[in-house]
Amino acid sequence: MDVLIGGVSQPVTITRKRMKNINLRISKDGMIQISCPHYASEAEIKRLIYMNEAWILEQQLRRKQENEINREGVNGPVLYWLGEKKYVRYLPAKRDSLTVDGDILTFYLKEETDERIEQTFRKVAAKEILRLAEERRGAWDALICHAHGLPLPEITMRYMTSRWGVCYPRKAKITLSTRLIHYPVECMEYVLLHEYAHFLVQNHSPAFYAVIAQYMPDYKERRKRLK
Ligand SMILES: [Zn+2]
Repeated sequence: MDVLIGGVSQPVTITRKRMKNINLRISKDGMIQISCPHYASEAEIKRLIYMNEAWILEQQLRRKQENEINREGVNGPVLYWLGEKKYVRYLPAKRDSLTVDGDILTFYLKEETDERIEQTFRKVAAKEILRLAEERRGAWDALICHAHGLPLPEITMRYMTSRWGVCYPRKAKITLSTRLIHYPVECMEYVLLHEYAHFLVQNHSPAFYAVIAQYMPDYKERRKRLK
């Protein structure tokens, strides 16, 4: 049996067994496979397949990407980008850069050296975290700085291993760790609020955490993910 999926005619492998439901799966090489009871009609099978067209195309794209990585022999490390698992590959290029597309994180490198990989990663990670922080700072600028007559801080990025963020109240400055890129954005949001809250309370007393809890009731869960 053939079906028209994504505008392309694709074969379907049907296995009939003693079972109740019709099951649809995509094999490792992206083929549509059905297992179903002996009495299931072709019309029923086709209906199930067409209802799941978007899912099938997504699975096939994923299998294709996985197979490409394996074929090119660049199944490098797995990296977490904003809390999502990414497969890393390295491609030669004139300039060092990095892109994230679906499950794939691609390094474009002049030369594949550890130093270039690290520098490129930190640069792009810093840019992305800063962009996300700038997008989210408005509430804290208003509720914490404006409301208390404090200057708006400058946010900068640095690669730090022992801290997620640093606050310099006298300089009106907040520094975030580029390593936040590995965690879901909710974690960076917590660190950002944490540093803003230090403009009001400089220690880690209950009064300090009361400020955070007021604006972010689920802060403990976010903080736990960073440990
Ligand atoms: Zn602190």
